[in-house]
Amino acid sequence: MLKWVGTVLCVLIMATSLGSFVVGIGWLGFGPPWRNVFVAKGKVWVDTSVPWDRGWYVFPAEHYSAVKVRWLPALNRATPPGWWAFSLPFWIPLTAAAVPTACLWWRDHRRIPPGRCQHCGYDLTGNVSGRCPECGTTVGK
Ligand SMILES: [Zn+2]
Repeated sequence: MLKWVGTVLCVLIMATSLGSFVVGIGWLGFGPPWRNVFVAKGKVWVDTSVPWDRGWYVFPAEHYSAVKVRWLPALNRATPPGWWAFSLPFWIPLTAAAVPTACLWWRDHRRIPPGRCQHCGYDLTGNVSGRCPECGTTVGK
């Protein structure tokens, strides 16, 4: 069950990441001082902002044509003084979600299905002796 939650989460992060190269989505909700949270160019950004209308906004990704795609988290400082932007690339949360999810899938894949010896995987269909003929493990019912 948890592996499905993880899988859906990974797909959502990936879809958001790819989508953010086409369209940016942001939320201006904190402040003052104004903080702007948005996704664009495969990253999650937090920056100081000009105080335009509060709430959700959508913009084409070309809006950020000047922004270089970098693969590491970055804190940018520039003019005007006091302006900053922090960016977190999507691969970091994606990896954080994908690694445990992959482990869950791998663990489930290795689990020996019922009806087989849990020790060696030998097919016990029709076995009545209560003992695996392959490895001698006592078979629990
Ligand atoms: Zn066995």
